[in-house]
Amino acid sequence: MIHQSPKSSLFDFSVNYPNEAFRQNQGVGMTSQRTRDRLIKRLVELDIYDERVLNAMRQVPRHCFLDEAMGSRSYEDTALPIGYGQTISQPIVVATMTQWLLADTDKHPMKKVLEIGTGSGYQTSILSLLIDQVYSVERIAPLMVRAQSVLADLQLTNITFELNDGHWGWQKQAPFDGIISAASPAKLPEELINQLKEGGRLVMPIGDKQQLLYGFEKTSTGVKETCLGEVLFVPMKQGIEV
Ligand code: SAH
Repeated sequence: MIHQSPKSSLFDFSVNYPNEAFRQNQGVGMTSQRTRDRLIKRLVELDIYDERVLNAMRQVPRHCFLDEAMGSRSYEDTALPIGYGQTISQPIVVATMTQWLLADTDKHPMKKVLEIGTGSGYQTSILSLLIDQVYSVERIAPLMVRAQSVLADLQLTNITFELNDGHWGWQKQAPFDGIISAASPAKLPEELINQLKEGGRLVMPIGDKQQLLYGFEKTSTGVKETCLGEVLFVPMKQGIEV
């Protein structure tokens, strides 16, 4: 498919921060808006064309989700450690997954989304800017607590958190318009498809050592599967850690 690349106008305007907390956390030097814009330009080169996604990623201060020591690397297009053996997702992967989730909003609005693997909360913040209600599940308690605090400091209030094993989705809040997972199970947990509305979309890595990113669309006649390429995520583990 050939996509029109976004109008260069995206960078012609100064950033319209969603609230005062974003404005105050815009950063300086290696964490500045200029540095963030360079990353966004890189995402455009890598075929991210949805201006909603580019805009949200242009606004979010990724350095706020990392240890200060890691600050200068915040806008490299790489995954980085966040403690507890976990990583903040690579920006191009966050962009690819979010773009795929939003690809059919003309026909199927994406208002209520489940995220599996809150981690640092970075992907959560992007979703929070683009979607009405975000439900985020994490299995490692201290990571969830830290993400909650960063997201609250950024005055993002449309997120509900739960400490749980995301293999089972979030039955009480289902059905969802979309589900996005940052942890890779060996095979697709069927329960996640059950918790999607008709027209709903699920995007997640699947596989053990070798992982592929998949998009699933739930239709009236079944599930349509699209492979979005090779990726490297942390494994989806069983149970919770407190
Ligand atoms: N998008 C996050 C990615 C964090 S890494 C970010 O950018 O920071 C993936 C996260 O998934 C880890 O925090 C890990 O603890 C979590 N995870 C792994 N298995 C899980 C499960 N079964 N249920 C919920 N979260 C899980």
